[in-house]
This record gives sequence, structure tokens and C-alpha cells, in this order.
Amino acid sequence: MASINRISLYFFILGTVISQGYGLLESLPLVSTVVGGIGKKGVLGTVMHTLDDTLAFLPREPEDAAARPYEASFCYDRRQPCGQHKWDGVCKTGKRQSPINIRTKQTLLVNASKNPLEFNSKYSRAQSGFYVANNGHSVVVQLRPKGRSELELHVSDLNLTFRFSHIHFHWNSLDHHKGSEHRIDGHGHDMEIHFVHYRSSFPSIEEALKSGEPNLAAVVGMFVDVGAHNHALDPAIKAIEKFALNDTHGHRRINETFSVSSILPKTDRFFRYQGSLTVPKCIENLLWLLMEDPIQISKEQMKTFRRVICHNCPEHKMKNVRRAMPRNERTIEYFNAHGTLPTHRKEEVTPEEDY
Ligand SMILES: [Zn+2]
Repeated sequence: MASINRISLYFFILGTVISQGYGLLESLPLVSTVVGGIGKKGVLGTVMHTLDDTLAFLPREPEDAAARPYEASFCYDRRQPCGQHKWDGVCKTGKRQSPINIRTKQTLLVNASKNPLEFNSKYSRAQSGFYVANNGHSVVVQLRPKGRSELELHVSDLNLTFRFSHIHFHWNSLDHHKGSEHRIDGHGHDMEIHFVHYRSSFPSIEEALKSGEPNLAAVVGMFVDVGAHNHALDPAIKAIEKFALNDTHGHRRINETFSVSSILPKTDRFFRYQGSLTVPKCIENLLWLLMEDPIQISKEQMKTFRRVICHNCPEHKMKNVRRAMPRNERTIEYFNAHGTLPTHRKEEVTPEEDY
């Protein structure tokens, strides 16, 4: 009986989706509440996944676009047809793809008397209220529903200004697999956080990504290791725990203060190179600014990320690490006000099973 109910409700929902199409999205929270409510009674729990899978292929609400700027059907597991080894287009043919393994002996030391990364005053101010979302490929934290903020990063030696869009996170589903996308001499970290910015001359991140222009966006990448508790990340991690573990239905507004700059490590040592988005469609012309020194989060905080569910991925538990791509002929600059080269470590090879 239960299976008949399950099938008939699925076809009822599918029929409604097909007949009402985009208009249904207006009432999406209502539909998900109804199904969620039945699911809680233990009768139709599996329908929730089927419904999510179906809705994943429909257009999103305009407001959702900022939380899903890279919308595409893909996953990471190399054993799956949607896995990263099968990503096509620029992901396959591009010559300036990210992430990369940075070999410290190949980096070019830049003798800069002052740090070229200048964050504006809004950057260091705590913001009242922020948004959190599970976009099916990562969890995203942003300050405005459409990703447009007043936080700016000026890269002084290139005379380029970028507007902060959002933060998202990369991690692996198992403790003993490294969760950072970039590697230094083959060494990974437990997580990597990406602070995504787009050139301030564009009205939105989507317009910047579509433009194909050089330096259309800048990503500040930050390594994370498990260690001490990170209080600056508390508001974001608590919000993920409460709203984004399972929920792929858009943003949740969190009425708490949050400071983006307080997460950044207090360092002026970083690597810089020309790369790409690390998710399909792997758009190139991105400026990567990769901080050398990691920050720390506690084991408990790390656990929250390992509990995030990916409804559209076969592997179910989210892992979102792209393997290192060829450096090709790219120059990797290394900025260090003290004028010393990065510490070289014996090269480590990441096993294929980690991806
Ligand atoms: Zn990323």
C-alpha cells in the first residue's frame, strides 16, 4: 500500500511540475513542506529525494541564481558518469584550469614592498544578517540574496577592483581523504574555503562569468586544517547545521552578525596565478589568490561539513574536491613581504581513490 501511495504521489507531483513548469517554483516551499511533513511520518521519506532530483532540472527562482551561479548537473565521484573525469567542454580542453598542485620550486618570488591585496573598510565591518544555502555542490554563505555586496578587494599592482560575491567550501567525505582542492608540493589540507569576487565593473557575477574578459573574477583561496575551534566561522557553521545540511531549496536568511574578514588569515604570503572555476563549466580568466598559511577549525566543526547531503549526487554525502589540473606554462607568483621563498616540502602524491 505504501509503495502504491509513493508511486501515485510521485506521478502527481511530476504531473504538476510538467503542467505548471516555472510557475510552480513560486509555490515550491509549500510543496516541500507538504512532502516533508508526510516524510516525517515515515511513509514517504524516499519521495523527498525523487522530488528533489526532478526539481533540480527546472529553472530556478531568479533570486536563487546568485547562490547557484555555476548551475550544472555534475558530481565528483570518478566511478559515476557525472564524475569529474567526464566533465567536458572547457573543463576538458582548457589550458588554464584550476585547481593545481603548486610546486614551490617553480614559483616566482615577487618583490613587493607592500601587500597588493587591499580590502576596503566595509570588508572588515561585521555585517548584520547573512544568507546560507546548499546548492547541491557546496554550501554557500553570502551577504545579499543576489550576491552583490559593498565589500571590495583592490589588487593594487594590477589596478583591478573586485566585489565580494560569496564564500563556499570544499571538503572530502572521509577523514583520511584531503579536502582541499589546491596542493602545495602535493600536500593537501582538510578543507579549502573560496572567497569569490567578480570585477566590480560588472553588474553581477553571472555577467562577469559570461563576459570572457581577462580577470573577470578573483578567488581568494584559503586552506583549513582540523585543530583549534574557529569562533569566526561559528555563525556560518551553525546556520549550515540548522538549514543547509539537507535543504536545497534556496537561501535562508540568518539574523546574526557575520564578519567575512575575520575568517581570513593574518598573513601577506600568498600565491597568485591565472586559473578557472573548479566546477563546470570551468570558466577560465579567473585570478587565483591562494593564501599560504592555513586557518583551523575544530573536529566538531569539520563534522558539520561531512554531514551535508548532496541530493543530486550518487555518492549522497557531499564531497567536492576536484583533482589537480596541469599547470602547463603558467607562472605561479609568490608574494612575501619578507622576500623569502616558500618552504619546500618533499612531494606527496594523492591516491586516485581520494577523488
Ligand atoms: Zn570553489
